[in-house]
Amino acid sequence: MSELKIIDNATCTFCGCVCDDIQLHHDEVRIHKANKACVLGTAWFLNHTAERHYPDALVDGQEATLDEAIEVAAELLHQADMPLVYGMSNTTCEAQKECVALADALGGLLDSHTSL
Ligand code: SF4
Repeated sequence: MSELKIIDNATCTFCGCVCDDIQLHHDEVRIHKANKACVLGTAWFLNHTAERHYPDALVDGQEATLDEAIEVAAELLHQADMPLVYGMSNTTCEAQKECVALADALGGLLDSHTSL
């Protein structure tokens, strides 16, 4: 392994505490060490890479275009009695804002993984 590069004061967005003093040791593809991160943050940083593992969209586990996936998602949400917009870890503030708007438009529920 080549010498690792260091990023100081990285921000962890995993749980919502938004710790912003994390020191990351990386090799351009994978983070190998996340100093000052808790066990959750460390797992989050160390399990994400710059490699591309999935296509842009999946429908029933099969590769789909983004338009196809949106169509299927809209149909499922339209049919739902009590839609739940859930998750939002690993997402940007802009994406979270869209989730809130979606839950509002659906008259559904909104929850994050922190309720676990
Ligand atoms: S998961 Fe841990 S390191 Fe990340 S923001 Fe939360 S408390 Fe901080």
